[in-house]
Amino acid sequence: MASLLIGPATVCTFGDRPRVLPDAGVAIEDGVIRDVGPYAKLSKSYRSHTAIRTRNSVILPGLICAHHHFYSTFARGLAPAKTPRNFVEVLKYMWWRLDRNLTLEDVYYSALIPLIECIKSGTTTVIDHHASAHAVRGSLGKIADAARVAGVRVNLCYEVSDRDGPAIAAEGIAENSEFLSLVSNPQSAISAGGGSASGGRNPKFLTASFGLHASFTLSDRTLREVSRRLESLDAGVHVHVAEDLADRKDALKKYRTGVVQRLAGLDLLRDKTILAHCIYITPAERRLIARKNCMVAHNPTSNMNNAVGTADLLGLTRDGVLVGLGTDGMRSSMLDEAKFAAFPHRMALRDPAAAFCETADLLVKGNPAIASRLFGSRLGVIEKGAAADLIRLDYHPPTPFTDETFYGHLLFGLANARVRDTMVGGRFLMRDGKLQIGVSEEEAAAAARVLAAKFRRRFAVDRRPGR
Ligand SMILES: [Zn+2]
Repeated sequence: MASLLIGPATVCTFGDRPRVLPDAGVAIEDGVIRDVGPYAKLSKSYRSHTAIRTRNSVILPGLICAHHHFYSTFARGLAPAKTPRNFVEVLKYMWWRLDRNLTLEDVYYSALIPLIECIKSGTTTVIDHHASAHAVRGSLGKIADAARVAGVRVNLCYEVSDRDGPAIAAEGIAENSEFLSLVSNPQSAISAGGGSASGGRNPKFLTASFGLHASFTLSDRTLREVSRRLESLDAGVHVHVAEDLADRKDALKKYRTGVVQRLAGLDLLRDKTILAHCIYITPAERRLIARKNCMVAHNPTSNMNNAVGTADLLGLTRDGVLVGLGTDGMRSSMLDEAKFAAFPHRMALRDPAAAFCETADLLVKGNPAIASRLFGSRLGVIEKGAAADLIRLDYHPPTPFTDETFYGHLLFGLANARVRDTMVGGRFLMRDGKLQIGVSEEEAAAAARVLAAKFRRRFAVDRRPGR
């Protein structure tokens, strides 16, 4: 793989102490960042590196999505089977009906389309949560195939649920277990180094978690089996937690405890566990998440879309919980998600100054920490030794652009700027606005439309009783 020197540009590092470095360069070797600093100095130190000139640009680390659902692609333009009156009906009339009508081929294209959108919007690592109840076995392999074609890093899981009966729950458990074993086995064809840009020190392209739908569709028996399987695996669960009050009420009624406490009692709160949403949890549960060192994915625009409420983000961060930003299948652009992330908190608190830094922190600090923990290497930051996952944007700051003003430029300027280049592991996936991968966007969309038309006919006539 070519050694590169990229710059000069304004480089924003992200990470715990985000910096804005004017006239900076990034030296890359073997898919990893070798050096970051003043371009004039780097151009003398790295004379043999291939120079990629980027004057008048801003370079950010590749962005990370902490909670996505690639399978939501075929929902575009699809009306629910009946008008939902609450969140559980949104699931019944839309999402559960959608996921049980997907075929394995649908799963592949449902992933490939948003993965292309990720490249175009600068998202280079995605933590996905998948469901396809009548195409469970092999589904994670299909998504991994799509991710390999796209060149994007992914953490994958299948959402185990009892809602479609015990046989499908067992298939979900088997799919997660088998996929986790495959991903961790370096000899396997689907192994963690299996990215198209793999090699040398380049960090993993593929990792996995054990997926669970949500407490209210999971029996103790199923969760105990998942807990048993996890004993021998270096993985956590990825699960929706108290996204709606219905989930908390169900846990209180059936198990006389909150959702987080229930998961803790079954030994599912591990340091690689991702809890999505966490809206209806108590302060004691927040502190329990912090003590167990789990991660939380906050999904503000999805929560607004489903009218389920607002997580206590300020409480979570105050208690020391590692929180990141997800899109919950709403979109693949993290800059789009970030620019609206503060608004629900301001509305809920009736405070026009609330949650500005805390929501920007999710993207800049939280997501890199989450991805780095799941992938075992530094992702989502521009520093020596981190993965060479970079994006370049056209952006001409009209006001001083410094460490102090960075978040204002990020959310109100860069979030509306065009991503020109996307690089993962030192390889361009998009250069000057043109995709550099093995498929064209037009052909992928045309293939998806053919499948989506058949899918919509199955969705329309589905009479299977969902939960
Ligand atoms: Zn979700």
